Amino acid sequence: MSAVYEVINPANEQSVKKVDLADLAATDAVIEKAAKAFESWKKIAPSDRAKLLRAFAQVVSDHREELAKLEVTNSGHTIGNALWEADNVANVLNYYSAAPERLFGRQIPVANGIDITFKEPLGVVGVIVPWNFPMPIAGWGFAPALAAGNTVVLKPAEYTPLTAVRLGELALKAGIPEGVFNVIVGKGSIVGNRFVTHPKVRKIVFTGSTEVGKGIMAGCADQVKRVTLELGGKSANVIFADSDIEKAAAAAPGAVFDNAGQDCCARSRILVEKSAFDKFMSAFETAVKKFRVEEPSLATAEMGPLISKKQLDAVQAYLNEPVAFTGSAPTGAGYWMAPTVLLPKDTKAKSWNEEIFGPVVSVMTFDDEADAIKKANDTEFGLSGSIWTNNSGKAIRVARAVESGNLSVNSNSSVRYWTPFGGYKQSGLGRELGPDALDSFTEVKNVFIATDN
Ligand code: NAP
Ligand code: MG
Repeated sequence: MSAVYEVINPANEQSVKKVDLADLAATDAVIEKAAKAFESWKKIAPSDRAKLLRAFAQVVSDHREELAKLEVTNSGHTIGNALWEADNVANVLNYYSAAPERLFGRQIPVANGIDITFKEPLGVVGVIVPWNFPMPIAGWGFAPALAAGNTVVLKPAEYTPLTAVRLGELALKAGIPEGVFNVIVGKGSIVGNRFVTHPKVRKIVFTGSTEVGKGIMAGCADQVKRVTLELGGKSANVIFADSDIEKAAAAAPGAVFDNAGQDCCARSRILVEKSAFDKFMSAFETAVKKFRVEEPSLATAEMGPLISKKQLDAVQAYLNEPVAFTGSAPTGAGYWMAPTVLLPKDTKAKSWNEEIFGPVVSVMTFDDEADAIKKANDTEFGLSGSIWTNNSGKAIRVARAVESGNLSVNSNSSVRYWTPFGGYKQSGLGRELGPDALDSFTEVKNVFIATDN
């Protein structure tokens, strides 16, 4: 172990814990251990692997309060969110615990024999997790990977290692065999990069910035390594004049300021039909001013601090467009920032185009349906988005036209563990969650058996 990282509570800047950071040799050792464990894990009977995943889910559920409190302290998440996040890990494990017994292949008609396909595990899967949702994003990678018969090496973000380390301990407690699910804390440039270059890691699941994601994709090319990417977003919240404006406005703060805006699905561009602009802005201002930014362990908190001083400074650098209004935030220690609403002068504004990853939203008007679609699509990202209208034909037309992986109509909810999640364009590659996620953790093997011998 070559270095140490001091975990800081972002709500008060107090030291929480020191953790050792793995070096290259320690990373290689963990990968070798996972590769060895794969030899037995892939052979476990489907029903036994299913039982182990259900046991893991149960242990996570039994420790939901502990995990949630750890996340509040490490990441500044509100306690309400953190409990949902711990439950999400258990739910995703339970969902994919049904997979080992349902990893169906096919029987395909052929002459003089039988042709069958198998879904075989890949081997060691490397999961690289960002700091914004440490528990769910880890689970979306490791649960289907394990269910399909792979073993896992998981690297949490440097800022947020604590819940991942605890999940590693809970897996052992649940009876998941040693070496099957490994959590290794260390730097992206060392541990994360080694997952990419080590030949025994057969697939990378990466969530994080588009910039690092591109480097990982290029690195994986060298070994034709499988890769799934969940990257940034600059999603549009499109509000038509014929919608329930009060409802859209009341929901809009949560759609962008949840998790202090550090959410790849944040609806950080609000597009409002010109004729509804004044009505929307007045209701939106009331909602933003009511949005509770406070000590995240309070049950009433709707938003906590940002993750770090670095992130706070990066977000504040975007505040160079006219400010419509702001909400409020605590002062004093901690990386606090009030929710901020910008009115960019035009679509060239940096704040309109770049993923800010903080509590900042920009509002712009549109003229008609065609203009709304054009503005929504005028971005290299395409992760999520919302459409508010009471015209169902228009809702479907716009939902089909917006180039984005996850859209909601008259709602801002985009994540369900049993439906697919992922991005268009530079928001990512591949899909996580839902019924098809197992396909990206398996190889299809085709076997022909002759019957004429
Ligand atoms: P990042 O650098 O992309 O980090 C994400 C993960 O990748 C972390 O575990 C990181 O480890 C690791 N990593 C970094 N460099 C690596 C490399 N060369 N090889 C392998 N793994 C590597 O993201 P960030 O710096 O934390 O955040 C920067 C910006 O990215 C944010 O402001 C936001 O715009 C965006 N972001 C998006 C998402 C999303 O969900 N789409 C999530 C997080 C961030 P370390 O933590 O040890 O560096
Ligand atoms: Mg980084």
